[in-house]
Amino acid sequence: MSTELPNVDLHCHSTISDGVLAPADVAARAKANGVDVWALTDHDEIRGIAQARSAALDLGLDYVTGVEISITWAGKTIHIVGLNIDETNENLVRGLAETRSGRERRAHDIAAGLAKIGIPDAFQGALTYVGNPDLISRSHFARYLVEIGVCENVNEVFKRYLVEDKPGYVPHRWATLAEAVKWIQGAGGEAVVAHPGRYDLSPIAFDAFFTEFKSYGGSAIEVVTGSHTVDQYEEYTKIASRYGFLGSRGSDFHGPDDAVVDLGQLPPLSSTLTPVWSKWM
Ligand code: AMP
Ligand code: MN
Ligand code: MN
Ligand code: MN
Repeated sequence: MSTELPNVDLHCHSTISDGVLAPADVAARAKANGVDVWALTDHDEIRGIAQARSAALDLGLDYVTGVEISITWAGKTIHIVGLNIDETNENLVRGLAETRSGRERRAHDIAAGLAKIGIPDAFQGALTYVGNPDLISRSHFARYLVEIGVCENVNEVFKRYLVEDKPGYVPHRWATLAEAVKWIQGAGGEAVVAHPGRYDLSPIAFDAFFTEFKSYGGSAIEVVTGSHTVDQYEEYTKIASRYGFLGSRGSDFHGPDDAVVDLGQLPPLSSTLTPVWSKWM
């Protein structure tokens, strides 16, 4: 028996949300990259799970059901990953449908903001990148703006056009923290704070957020993620210990071209932390 740690990647996206590969192709890439335990976590969507699970089964991957839920907390957008969920749970399915429901309207408003500054037809343009009409994302606008030469890369599009105070930014109210954790737990899963290092919160706000998340039964945070720097792996290892959170690991892979970190290509979770996957493995 091998004593090597399994290569666990519990965060990535497919064409069912804002990834560029179909669920089965993400599974194949995970396998090719040496991933052993894999979850697809599309934004506010569980409709890629059937394909992902069947592909994972064929490839001999250990499959974990997942989702990444958009929430609004203290006026900020935060992402909560749900892992090992029953994706057929009615409250979860209904809650996610509700969470997705404002996206088309928002996309029209984003396009209107861009039109005002001389970038016309961005809704139609973004749509050519959309795999799931219920899930139009800022990522799709970013890809279109790169295509038409407005920016060099998607990161630049976000900075110049799609974040707060920029012309293509539209404030949006997502699910609440309490709802997201309740839907995940009700579906038998573990609630995990996605890429905590990405949120612009003061230390006091962070403490309030983690405390509230824990009070609802939230159990884990992502520590090793494609969105964290090496320093942040350490910082969030300490934070996980301080709050008694389990640790998670995931690339947040969206596609071969905009991969900050590819599937399975991350350092291991610190051995001082209990991994979230110990809950079901
Ligand atoms: P949305 O859910 O429509 O607000 O889109 C959020 C998605 O945009 C995230 O899940 C990321 O995939 C992507 N995103 C956010 N910020 C950036 C950034 N600075 N650079 C590239 N992609 C980003
Ligand atoms: Mn995304
Ligand atoms: Mn995210
Ligand atoms: Mn993600």
